[in-house]
Amino acid sequence: MTRIKWNHNLDRIVRMCLRRVFYGDRYAHPNGKASSPQRQVFLLKQALDLSAWRGKLVHTAIQKKVIPSLQKDELPDFLEVQKWASDLVDKQRKFSQAERYNFESKTSAGEDYCVLYDDYRGSGVGIEEIEEVKREVKFALENLEDFFIKLLIRARKAIKLAGELEIRFSIDERIRMEAILDMVFQEDDNWIVIVDWKVGDALTGNAREQLFAYAYALLKSGWWDRLRCEDFELIEANLITGEQVKYTFTEENLADVDDRIFTGSQLLKPIYEHPVKDNIPEDFASAESPGSCEGCSVREICNGSLSEKAFAQPGLQFKLF
Ligand code: SF4
Repeated sequence: MTRIKWNHNLDRIVRMCLRRVFYGDRYAHPNGKASSPQRQVFLLKQALDLSAWRGKLVHTAIQKKVIPSLQKDELPDFLEVQKWASDLVDKQRKFSQAERYNFESKTSAGEDYCVLYDDYRGSGVGIEEIEEVKREVKFALENLEDFFIKLLIRARKAIKLAGELEIRFSIDERIRMEAILDMVFQEDDNWIVIVDWKVGDALTGNAREQLFAYAYALLKSGWWDRLRCEDFELIEANLITGEQVKYTFTEENLADVDDRIFTGSQLLKPIYEHPVKDNIPEDFASAESPGSCEGCSVREICNGSLSEKAFAQPGLQFKLF
């Protein structure tokens, strides 16, 4: 049996739809033939609507331009960060519009890589929409300076600081946990601050479980010695509203994450049990709530409604399930 992967997002999805996890985590294949459904699922999984694109652009700007400055004990030039992000919008838009994702890998394209849903579907993204994305990204980065400068100064002075920190470790012989933390730093006396940037105007206060999973990962992975639950400060930082929500982490929260990992991995188990070639998507239950399908990245394949444009591409006449 392939080892079960557990992370917060996968756990959230598997509780809504087993089939979606199979599609995204087992079935998708970056190197499948252009005409294969596996390759199309891979592209769909990465495709972004404009709101998700905005979030990704802001996260990339923080990772590439803000964190490196802080690590050099400097504050970033925020206007330069905004300009860099605006240029990135243009580069990624060009990449997606030219559908370069059909023949260039993420690795070779680097930061330019982008798949926009509207390009994939063939409807395209208008100039006005692009300008709106630029305005929103700029607004979020202005808020980073206006509302979170004290937090950035703390990070700058920290003993250790990392952005997009990837943690992967085995919980036991069956389960491998992974977590990617937006920003984490260690202050004096083993005080660990984990920050999750949110770039949505939805109500804040919904990153609690996610941050608990991150604290669990740091605690159990051995990244820092002698950590205890009370050594964490967990911060959900909303770059659209400027709000900041802090959470404490207790032994009880730690046990809750343990419980989620156990129950989630029970649900994930059948998806990883057999070689992927021995399963088809219909082997796994679909979402019970139609609402779950609305935000599903692979719905085009799952419900057989790939756009006419996609079907018109040579070699895309594959049989849908
Ligand atoms: S479209 Fe719905 S049923 Fe199909 S994989 Fe997505 S969430 Fe599951």
